Amino acid sequence: MDAFRLLTRSTKFSKSAAAPAESSRLPSTGKAANPQLFRTAEGEKLESAQNGKKRKRAARAVDEKTEEDTADLDFFHSNKRSAAPATETTGHTKGDRGQPIAQDESDEEDAMDEVQRRTILNSHKIKVTDLRDLDEIQLQPTPAPEDSKKKKKKSKKEVPEPEPQPLSKKEQKRARRMYPQPLVSFKELRSRYKISSRLAENIAEQGFTVPTEVQLGSLPLLLGDSSVSTAGQVSEPDLLVVAPTGSGKTLSFMIPVINKIVRHHHSSQSDEHGILSLVVAPTKELASQIVNEGRKLVAGTGVKITLMRKGMRVVEQEDEGESNALDEDSEESGSEAENEEEDKPKKQRNNAPVTKSDILVTTPLMLVNSLSANQTTSIARLPLVRSLVLDEADVLLDPLFREQTLDIWRSCVHPDLRVSLWSATMGSNVEDLTQSTIKERLESIGHPSTTSHPLVRLVVGLKDSAVPNIDHRLVYAATEQGKLLGLRQLLRPAAASASDVRLRPPFLIFTQTIPRAIALHSELKYDIPAEAGGSSRIAVLHSDLSDSQRSDIMRDFRKGEIWILVTTDLLARGVDFRGINGVVNYDIPNSAAVYVHRVGRTGRAGREGGIAVTYYTKEDIPYVKSIANVIDVSEKLRGAEGEKSIQKWLLDSLPDLSKKDKQELKKHGVKARQMSKQVGGKDKNAGQDGKSSRETRISTKSGFERRMENRKRGAIEASRNRKATANTDGNESAGSWDGLED
Ligand code: ADP
Ligand code: MG
Repeated sequence: MDAFRLLTRSTKFSKSAAAPAESSRLPSTGKAANPQLFRTAEGEKLESAQNGKKRKRAARAVDEKTEEDTADLDFFHSNKRSAAPATETTGHTKGDRGQPIAQDESDEEDAMDEVQRRTILNSHKIKVTDLRDLDEIQLQPTPAPEDSKKKKKKSKKEVPEPEPQPLSKKEQKRARRMYPQPLVSFKELRSRYKISSRLAENIAEQGFTVPTEVQLGSLPLLLGDSSVSTAGQVSEPDLLVVAPTGSGKTLSFMIPVINKIVRHHHSSQSDEHGILSLVVAPTKELASQIVNEGRKLVAGTGVKITLMRKGMRVVEQEDEGESNALDEDSEESGSEAENEEEDKPKKQRNNAPVTKSDILVTTPLMLVNSLSANQTTSIARLPLVRSLVLDEADVLLDPLFREQTLDIWRSCVHPDLRVSLWSATMGSNVEDLTQSTIKERLESIGHPSTTSHPLVRLVVGLKDSAVPNIDHRLVYAATEQGKLLGLRQLLRPAAASASDVRLRPPFLIFTQTIPRAIALHSELKYDIPAEAGGSSRIAVLHSDLSDSQRSDIMRDFRKGEIWILVTTDLLARGVDFRGINGVVNYDIPNSAAVYVHRVGRTGRAGREGGIAVTYYTKEDIPYVKSIANVIDVSEKLRGAEGEKSIQKWLLDSLPDLSKKDKQELKKHGVKARQMSKQVGGKDKNAGQDGKSSRETRISTKSGFERRMENRKRGAIEASRNRKATANTDGNESAGSWDGLED
């Protein structure tokens, strides 16, 4: 494919226009075959058996139904199933016709036994752990359904004597392990978990067929199994989830949040109006994306979701008069997402009406400012919030955001609050902080017991690891100049060049700081020939831009009008550009976690073929090991077949970094690229002066020189292309912009 075809794709963006001739292994070419990252043949067999059983029974149910219609002669089911909910479509409540069936046959058939659940969970590398104190776990009364759901080791509870023997580490671990029922198909959301039918339709409409691992494991925990709840409600836990980038965590928390609100609207408390759920995310880009995803799910359910904006009022402050609630931007129709992103600050200050919405999605600072009148008063309470979702929780609880996040958490004073924390990386400090905050909050609202609902941790795959479906390249470039040369080669490898890496747009380039992103952008701007769209194809995004500039760039990148986006760690987290082909770490990331998240912008939902290129210089050598380790683990996760990009000798020869140096790096990045003068900034990577110094400069030639060269090249190219228009195949070299070609 040539640059012109890419151009076509960008102006008329449609799935079919996306590079038909390209190999199906490119993320940009479309859907992933299977969004699941881990599965074994054994688990797969079991799951399809489960599904098969349901299908068979569903067919039977339909048979029965038609027969019932003609003659109501089904004694068996009319006797036994009178109390059961109507689930004809799946046939859950019906037994084999003509055969005497056990009273609870349907439940038994649906609920897998522990071995089955264990097999499926293990085959997807899902590990569920009860994080409460051990004595709390053991103190639990053991009502049969609760126990069968959670699978605590019964033997541990059978030691009633006053001198309980301390458990060995291994036994403790075993006592904490849980094997909850997995969700083997999205259909179960309706049949088993009784979610709102409209919500189920909205999910189906998005074309998802198989639940991803994190959905498979977490949805049943958060939705509660209705077949169990009739006998004894298993209460919804607080949940800590660690699951790979791009594995569908958004859907995992949005479905339960929305469903809970639908239930609430139908309950006796339905006259309560105000924010019932809060979703907190570290950046505006991510918050806006979550709202857009949420809008697709709430369409027609009566649930309203809103993106927090500057100046928006979310609660009635005591000293303020009554308000007329307004729902200007919380329409529930799935209106075109990107249009909603623009910034409409409400400047009416105190007179602004209180936003009427069920779900509020916000960055920490914006909500704190709203709740505390720009931090001039003590923080107001959010008395109705039942679900608090912290997306990218480890960043939200990192020193940068910690106080704001905890303030928000504490302002949620409802006794039934459930919190869930989501990320692909989570240190044990996050776990500790979560546990202590939950305790502290319950005490402060006079509800000191946590036995009613546990804190559960769900891990998919290996914690803190990069997704296994992308290729990693760790490239030694020696110097800053070397990196620029390397990047140029990546963009436009000369036909004879030895470069084995080809990176095709769209892709992201990460730098350490805002000034470096700006500098790299202006350096690369003239590298794109005019006939391919020129400098409009490349953009820079960082937190010093205005909100509307930021959302315009996001929109254009998603539309395919921008092909290359130079950015800081502002975009490292959460944002989902589905078809990104690669990520370039122009500057090495400040930590292994940042690496995991940056490269996780590609390979979303199991897509294969994404590439992550990381350059490092001599100055970076002390910091490379943790990244090399991440790559090594990810390649091991992938399995034996692929060749390793990290050789053992390299791993062994790279120096280890002390804990102190690691912290220093995380805070300030690589020293050589810092500016001498520190200026406070909004961005995590800000804090740099705008003017470049010798060390931080990114350039080989002046922009003017490049522009002139580029013009000349463009003219030559244009004339050459005129001659070669007949060739539309695109496999032939179209000249200097080879980097975009197949
Ligand atoms: P995470 O938050 O885990 O990084 P996201 O929630 O952003 O991941 O989801 C990544 C992508 O996967 C999104 O484009 C989403 O639409 C898609 N996705 C989510 N669930 C599924 C599924 N079950 N099947 C296919 N694609 C899915
Ligand atoms: Mg996410």
